[in-house]
Amino acid sequence: MGKYICDCCGHKTLTDPKKSYEICPVCSWQNDGYIDYEGYYDTGANSTILSVAQKNYKDIGACDKRCLNYVRKPKDDEPYVGELKEYRER
Ligand SMILES: [Zn+2]
Repeated sequence: MGKYICDCCGHKTLTDPKKSYEICPVCSWQNDGYIDYEGYYDTGANSTILSVAQKNYKDIGACDKRCLNYVRKPKDDEPYVGELKEYRER
């Protein structure tokens, strides 16, 4: 069971805090994102910005269509808590 909430899908899937480079098993977002010194969410190694990844997850079930083979449905002990909101992107 994860302890931390994924910024993209909003499920509690992560065992390590942000900037751990952990990849969410449910949406495949890599959680290396963080708010930089100017207050913007840094997408890091992900191929899309977070707002696009969140929309992709809602539409197709993965943060990017290239990741569809690497995702799975959330388990019962990975409840939906809510994706990250109220952030700025470049
Ligand atoms: Zn996720």
